[in-house]
Amino acid sequence: MPKKYVYDFEEADYRNKKLFGGKGASLIQMTQLGLRVPPGFIITTEACKDFFAPRRAEIAELEALLEKQPPPEVRDQAIGKLFALINGLDLPQGLWEEVLQHMRRLEEKVGRKFGDPENPLLVSVRSGAAVSMPGMMDTVLNLGLNDQTVKGLAKQTGNEWFAYDAYRRFVNMFGRIVLGIDDKLFSSAWEEIKKKYNAKEDPDVPLEGLKEAVERFKEIIRRQYGEFPQDPWEQLKLAIKAVFRSWDSPRAIFYRVAEKITPDVADCTAVNVVTMVFGNMGWDSGTGVVFSRDVATGENRLYGEFLPVAQGEDVVAGIRTPMDIEEFRKRFPHLYDELYKGVKLLEKANKDVQDVEFTVERGKLYFLQCRNAKMTPLARVKTAVDMAKEGVITKEEALLKVSPDHVLQLLYPRIDPKAKAQPIAKGLPASPGAVSGQLVFHPDDAVRWAREGKKVILARVETKPDDVHGFYAAVGILTSRGGMTSHAAVVARAIGKPAVVGAEALVIDEAAKTMSVGGQVFKEGDWVTIDGNTGNVYAGVVPTVEPELIPELEELLSWADEVRRLGVRANADLPEDAALARKFGARGIGLLRIERMFRKPERLDLLRKVILAETREERVKHLEPLYRMLKGDFKEIFKIMDGLPVIVRLIDPPLHEFLPKPEEVLQQIYEAKAAGRDTKELERLYARVKALQEANPMLGHRGVRVGVTYPEFYYYLSRAIAEAAAELKKEGHNPVVEIMIPQVSDVREIRYVKEKGILPALRDVEKETGVRLEVKIGTMVETVRAALTMDQIAKEVDFISFGTNDLTQAVFSFSRDDAENKFIPQYLDLKILDADPFETLDVAGVGKLVELAARTAKEVNPKIEVGVCGEHGGDPKSIYFFEKTAVDYVSASPFRVPLARLAAAQARILGGGKADRE
Ligand code: PEP
Ligand code: MG
Repeated sequence: MPKKYVYDFEEADYRNKKLFGGKGASLIQMTQLGLRVPPGFIITTEACKDFFAPRRAEIAELEALLEKQPPPEVRDQAIGKLFALINGLDLPQGLWEEVLQHMRRLEEKVGRKFGDPENPLLVSVRSGAAVSMPGMMDTVLNLGLNDQTVKGLAKQTGNEWFAYDAYRRFVNMFGRIVLGIDDKLFSSAWEEIKKKYNAKEDPDVPLEGLKEAVERFKEIIRRQYGEFPQDPWEQLKLAIKAVFRSWDSPRAIFYRVAEKITPDVADCTAVNVVTMVFGNMGWDSGTGVVFSRDVATGENRLYGEFLPVAQGEDVVAGIRTPMDIEEFRKRFPHLYDELYKGVKLLEKANKDVQDVEFTVERGKLYFLQCRNAKMTPLARVKTAVDMAKEGVITKEEALLKVSPDHVLQLLYPRIDPKAKAQPIAKGLPASPGAVSGQLVFHPDDAVRWAREGKKVILARVETKPDDVHGFYAAVGILTSRGGMTSHAAVVARAIGKPAVVGAEALVIDEAAKTMSVGGQVFKEGDWVTIDGNTGNVYAGVVPTVEPELIPELEELLSWADEVRRLGVRANADLPEDAALARKFGARGIGLLRIERMFRKPERLDLLRKVILAETREERVKHLEPLYRMLKGDFKEIFKIMDGLPVIVRLIDPPLHEFLPKPEEVLQQIYEAKAAGRDTKELERLYARVKALQEANPMLGHRGVRVGVTYPEFYYYLSRAIAEAAAELKKEGHNPVVEIMIPQVSDVREIRYVKEKGILPALRDVEKETGVRLEVKIGTMVETVRAALTMDQIAKEVDFISFGTNDLTQAVFSFSRDDAENKFIPQYLDLKILDADPFETLDVAGVGKLVELAARTAKEVNPKIEVGVCGEHGGDPKSIYFFEKTAVDYVSASPFRVPLARLAAAQARILGGGKADRE
């Protein structure tokens, strides 16, 4: 049996968007719901695929070339070849016969004949793929008109002006779309005619002008192509082919690449042949677009516009100003009522806000298309919650309608889309939010300027932990080096400061206090704007729009909390972060990076003394005052998180990160000598700093290794934590404190630091205070060996937490500070990697290790708690994966907590493994 390629609107299944395309499916659905839809039929996407089939291999090769966006000469040549290939193709076998049958049926249905000079049937031939690709493919209107049928149309409608208006539009469109003639030729001819007849707008052109336009357009076609085809059947055949061809128009190819529309999502276009209805028949006619709710604010009212005496393309082209839908309601109350009812019916049937195209022909309303509306994040959240409350959708469906990105976008200021500013450089969007400030190049300057009430952006080549005071003082952070998990990025995200990192085009000279790019030089105090949502950097102040924490979002997230299995905690290091995290719904702290507490100068000073000390006694001498200083911060944070777990990680980074660079010390020695000062201390410092230098600091003397070599260090840190907890308990609070050991690779490291540092501290504090402490002890899993020896490690600890940043670095052997700027972009381009593994967990490699280690941990220690505290804990796709493993909770920076709550709920509903959303 030959394939069936053509379906009437009445006979098809609207759920099969892959076969009928989105537009086709909507025509089927609206017809079957009883809305007034002009009769018609659909040629399936299957027909389009079979149309291309004979030259598929060559076509695919040219598509692949165009997808890479080659230089214009190469592109134009490729398009020329591609279109020549496609133009040489015939419609697949049997298709034309089927079209003829359906055209006959259509003629019977509407009581007009195609090509009939007295009472002609006219159709539109419209594209429509499985997913909406607005404006990317082609459509031909008013098809079937020729020198004879135009007279029939005039008679039939009693409106000669209208008939010729339709004809001039058709000849123009046919020439442009089907025959590929440059539209400028038509539009300049049209402009001349308008001028000749003193017509301000198109409807002012008199009948003779329209007739003249038809003749001139036909002449253009004659010169460019040959005689304009008068036979409507030939017009139809050519138009169907042209719509098929438009699947491969350069803009459609570009759009598919940009929107990641792969063949499994949409493959080829359907063709919709629909009886024409005319919005240009007079002032009781027109065409419009309406949304079932306000797509900017989410308000439950129709939102849209209507253009009288017009056809669809006039609205899109914006040649005349349409009337607001409110105005339409006042002028045509009955039509408005009918439209409202239809739109709401569609909203209910499709369980989403609808974007509906309609036409009014002589006071009669026709529905031409519907689809789910695209909305601002604000409207997306509000409408999802409202629809769930109205019973249009369930709470679970509401949770799936909002993407985690929407939540993120709602919490940060954004560049005002109306600003249309041009960036001077682009880096990585390390921490969301857009902000303007005056440039400073040193953290101390940031603090000083901020004290004077100035808004500053701290620009650095890269950042170190002891820059962090500058982070707090600045409104945003900009670096020319570093990746998404570089220090600047992690810290900025943690404290919710907008940051752009690794903007390599910028030449930042910290000493000269200048930043230059492409010949432009910025000095200290110059204003710049950074957009941490996109990575763009702008000169001057670009206006931003402030975020709103709308009550609907809070409500939606409370529904998410009812559904999700995964817990959500926060990575927070300071009291203000903890407060924000709690406000955003974190159920505890999954990672408190202790090193951030050393940001205050007096503490950093003591820490340096500890590091530089050569004996245990000397170290203890400085640790004593240091731990007392930390205790206060711990108390504050534990109090904020009262009743919820707080996991404090013992010190992790390589020690030399807290020390000055050797060359800086040398410089000081040189200066001291020149001034005749004693240099003994400085020389000792230099020797120690040199001794601490390492070839591979990331793989060096850090984390638990410091705890093993200097157990007193871990003793005093644990003591600060334990004393804070004990004091709070005495004060009647309920601190839930846990201690975490970083960088472990062997269970014996854990045993050693527990015995020599952590447990003695806890015992001493219990003894001294008389308070019984129940402090859980756990480890990070961020080395491959820790993951692989989980059967031993899990028996030794109460909890584990995957440090997926370091684990990714270790599994790939990619430096987390360099990879994203050096080669990952090219790896992504070449599709060697599907995603940046520092952003989205590499399921095949790192994921396998997480899955295995989490499962093993639970097998050997069923009570063990398993978390993730790397950046992936705040990444939706990674969260969808963690749902499928034995991971109990994720921990994300405070600003990502709401997003993680939503993603965890979606993961639960969908059973994990969900790929892209919206
Ligand atoms: C990690 O490695 O994933 C982690 C959370 O630790 P840090 O980023 O502090 O190295
Ligand atoms: Mg780590």
